[in-house]
Amino acid sequence: MTADAPQLTLGILGGGQLAQMLALAALPLGVRVRVLEPDAQAPARLCATHLHAPYTDALSLDVLAGCDAVTLEFENVPVQALTALEDRVPVRPGRALLERSKHRAREKEALRAAGVQTAPFVVIETEAEVGGALEQVSGRGILKTSELGYDGKGQARVSDLDGLRAAWNALGRVPCLLEGLVQFEREVSLAVARGPDRALAFGPLIENVHRDGILLTSLFLEGDPQEVQAREIAGRVAGAWELEGLMTLEFFGLPDGDLLVNEVAPRVHNSGHLTQDGGGISQFEAQVRAVLGLPLADWRPLHPCAMVNIVGAEGKTPDWAGIDALPGTRLHLYHKAWRAGRKLGHVNLVAADEQTLRARLSQLETLIP
Ligand code: AMP
Repeated sequence: MTADAPQLTLGILGGGQLAQMLALAALPLGVRVRVLEPDAQAPARLCATHLHAPYTDALSLDVLAGCDAVTLEFENVPVQALTALEDRVPVRPGRALLERSKHRAREKEALRAAGVQTAPFVVIETEAEVGGALEQVSGRGILKTSELGYDGKGQARVSDLDGLRAAWNALGRVPCLLEGLVQFEREVSLAVARGPDRALAFGPLIENVHRDGILLTSLFLEGDPQEVQAREIAGRVAGAWELEGLMTLEFFGLPDGDLLVNEVAPRVHNSGHLTQDGGGISQFEAQVRAVLGLPLADWRPLHPCAMVNIVGAEGKTPDWAGIDALPGTRLHLYHKAWRAGRKLGHVNLVAADEQTLRARLSQLETLIP
């Protein structure tokens, strides 16, 4: 390597599959990664230096403070970890954005303050707030814990007062949000990055299908008519929240063409995995670049592409040989122990045109039960 080749170090709070794929994208840029993650079996340990300790461990935080910048792959890290780092190293995104995005009620209020539409919602923190809540969201809704929910966990659909009461009890009577049930036509997502110089760059608009609250399939096609609207919203939120780094917005697409923001992840997102194999730069490289202040441009696939998640399911195994034999597939495994309902990997699929992509996607879905 020549003496002036780039040599940087990136710290990541969290060491799951997102950190693993961030590290894999960082290495070719001359960037080495250190992850702080309490789980001994963290997927990122295979391609990054693993600080195996609690997120608040002072010695490990000292090691992260010696990096060129720190980012996160997981929003449920304690805010104290960011507080301990923020005067010593650039932390992107920073504490204020994390505090918003890890708390559903604060997030929705901050979205509305930025002039963005969301589902109707009401905060439930006491028994008294349960009565009358459903009426405020037109009678049917989804009760979600304000914090620590992911992949549909910590959620329940409700349509009457008894059901709401039972659901709130089942969720442990913790602070919750009751959201009105949105009759969406489709779900889409789009990521935005903003460098320390405030320049914005965008990922593609991606269409998503969920099963039981878990993302199943994502699809990117050229020329989605709602991409302009999604970029405008994402850019507005990134500016209002003073984003540094990358965040992903999940939207509900309504039949009248409007987009409501469902939630915001302060990081790369499962729906953006297809950017790894679409021919452009990936969402992982985009986050690494934004966080380290490296030159940044829109990252969009050059070809139609899709992704199917591999989720552990009782008594079912993917047809590995069939996946490998299907043209255009790229397998990404996270090296995690098998568990029902757990995301274990994904398959990206690329094709030269939409018709071929859709035909092969149907085939691929039969190979991943
Ligand atoms: P979330 O954890 O908020 O992303 O919710 C997981 C999934 O549940 C979403 O991707 C939707 O498919 C569904 N969902 C969540 N909130 C609503 C809502 N207010 N109305 C209809 N479906 C919803």
